[in-house]
Amino acid sequence: MASMKRVSGLDTHITRRDFVNGVAIGFGALLLGGTAAGHAQQAARTPVVSPDEDWYGYGGVGDYRLSHGNTPQAMAEAHRIRDGISGSGLGDPVSTEEYDLVIIGGGMAGLGAALEHMKQRREGQSCLLLDNHPIFGGESKENEFNVNGTRLIGPQGANGFFIPGEVSDIESASGDPRYYAELGIPREFEYRGWTAQKKPLRFCQDNYGYLVRGLQENTSVGHFFNHGNEGVWANDMWQQELANTPLDPKARRSLLDWYGTGANIHFVSDDQARKWLDTMSYKEFLEREQGMGAEGAKYADLFLAASCGLGSDVTSAYAAYQLPMPGLNDPPSPSSKRNSFPGGNSGYARHFVKKLIPEAITGEDKFEDIITGRINFNALDRPGQPIRLRLDSTAVSVSHVGNPADSERVEIVYRRGGKQHRLWAKGVVMATGSWINRYIVKDLPESHATALGKFRHAPFLVANVALTNWRFLYKLGITAAIWDRTEGDFGYTCNIRNPMQVGSYQPPLDPNQPTVLSFYTPFYYPGLPIEQQVILGRAELLSTSYANYEQKIIRQMIKLFGAAGFEPAKDVAGIILNRWGHAYSVPYPGFYGGAGDDPAPRDIIRQGYGRIAFGHSELDGLQHWGPAADEGRRAYTQVKDAI
Ligand SMILES: Cc1cc2nc3c(=O)[nH]c(=O)nc-3n(C[C@H](O)[C@H](O)[C@H](O)COP(=O)(O)OP(=O)(O)OC[C@H]3O[C@@H](n4cnc5c(N)ncnc54)[C@H](O)[C@@H]3O)c2cc1C
Repeated sequence: MASMKRVSGLDTHITRRDFVNGVAIGFGALLLGGTAAGHAQQAARTPVVSPDEDWYGYGGVGDYRLSHGNTPQAMAEAHRIRDGISGSGLGDPVSTEEYDLVIIGGGMAGLGAALEHMKQRREGQSCLLLDNHPIFGGESKENEFNVNGTRLIGPQGANGFFIPGEVSDIESASGDPRYYAELGIPREFEYRGWTAQKKPLRFCQDNYGYLVRGLQENTSVGHFFNHGNEGVWANDMWQQELANTPLDPKARRSLLDWYGTGANIHFVSDDQARKWLDTMSYKEFLEREQGMGAEGAKYADLFLAASCGLGSDVTSAYAAYQLPMPGLNDPPSPSSKRNSFPGGNSGYARHFVKKLIPEAITGEDKFEDIITGRINFNALDRPGQPIRLRLDSTAVSVSHVGNPADSERVEIVYRRGGKQHRLWAKGVVMATGSWINRYIVKDLPESHATALGKFRHAPFLVANVALTNWRFLYKLGITAAIWDRTEGDFGYTCNIRNPMQVGSYQPPLDPNQPTVLSFYTPFYYPGLPIEQQVILGRAELLSTSYANYEQKIIRQMIKLFGAAGFEPAKDVAGIILNRWGHAYSVPYPGFYGGAGDDPAPRDIIRQGYGRIAFGHSELDGLQHWGPAADEGRRAYTQVKDAI
């Protein structure tokens, strides 16, 4: 079976020769980032989103093929809400149901709320979880390819993890360790062996670790610099102390200074750190407080934008403190290994769902079946089961009946299949982000409405490229690439993982065999205000057609890998785009409350009101799966007594 999608004819009109002769432009420009003037021009463009094949593109095979990134349908519904053309005023609902608890949002936070409800529910209590996509998981979903009979799975978004420690008491634990214990997630995993007889290549086990200072050395990373006509590769540049790069000596010294700086300041408490660091950006911390050159902050942009949406100019130094960033932390030990399930954190979402609705994933309640089994969609939303999960359902209006302080129930209106439906609930968990909550929660107190308006969300694109082989990477001696982005380029980084082996899912690790090359692509425009950066990013993400992205990706691959023998027609089997319009809540300076004593916006939202509580990863500042589930769990406990 050859269920793959060839790139659409690109090979016929772009060759390496065309490329070198001028299809691509702007060699030798900036190390990272583009020009503010160019971006300001782009800002005038209006995002065009049409729910057709040309925008959404190929989705791969398997259960996730119809849900990669934000679907056009989910976005169209969201835009109707934003434009005020959805809601309870639009005619009578075609159905009405009553539940004790309604959870809105089927990502890690919503699943965390549902798991806690499952444990604490009283006999007979009912719960409905709504999500606006065709499959659960939110940003923790997967793509699947079939390349000439080889099954390949890759993450759509959230993808990697460190293995947490054991806990002795689940109830007092939180975050990742708690859910490992609660869901019985194993701590030992199998990866493909790599024989060094071939070439001593090192592989990242996720799509993230190769960007992290200290862990980058565990991967064979090539940095591509725009230099001369063809560009220059510098492999393992940090191990070589940048001696193999075309950077001038001053830039090298400045970058090495930054890279080599450990925890320069010791804070007596986390609160002391927050009060000072949250008043400045990481860039200000490095350059103003530490007197470092500009190169460190520019390089840090890559890592920060991959972790929290935008670069060092608009990310709080306190967020950088919580990450292993130079100047604020020592590098992690190189022995700390990142891991990734075949579909990234989809593996966690599937563990939650298996626990909530055992028949939802075929097979037994064991790791192998949970990770590789098929979804049984019919089992998700059966009448009478304690927790029902309803997909393709967009909540458009949520409000108390009467005054929130003494209301007896909440009315929820949602849209499904073009029709409006009504729910009554005694309690509601909004496991959705502020970008939508501020439109759909209709009776917000002013404090909450103001706080919701203070979040800023950056978009993100994960492009998974199925390859029939990766001989061109092998020839270059790399498994991950980071490039010196210049005008006209696509993305910043890409890599292939050493794929986890799970039961019958045994993907190869051989340059002559298929693999998935993942481009994790943020949108950041250094120097512009945060509001402009996120609008520009979304405009670019949403206004680019699938065919256009396909071209950009292939051109970028020709630029990087053409000289090493990359041939799109033979090497690319299919490309899936996963577009996330509001991927990350950006922890800008002040996000955590800054130096003041007033509650941060996230703490106001965490208070909830009446019978409605809020729990989403955006409240954490650094979005991560365990804390996301904790936010959902906390929100559930706030409404528990009301249901
Ligand atoms: C590219 C990328 C990489 C990441 N990498 C990692 C990683 O390696 N490790 C990690 O731990 N985390 C990572 N994250 C962070 C990730 O966001 C969190 O770990 C977690 O998955 C977020 O869960 P959530 O439930 O808070 O939000 P979401 O995943 O956003 O879930 C919210 C759900 O609510 C739905 N929804 C929205 N509006 C409505 C409505 N009106 N009606 C019904 N449903 C609605 C949404 O569509 C979505 O399905 C990454 C994120 C991105 C974008």
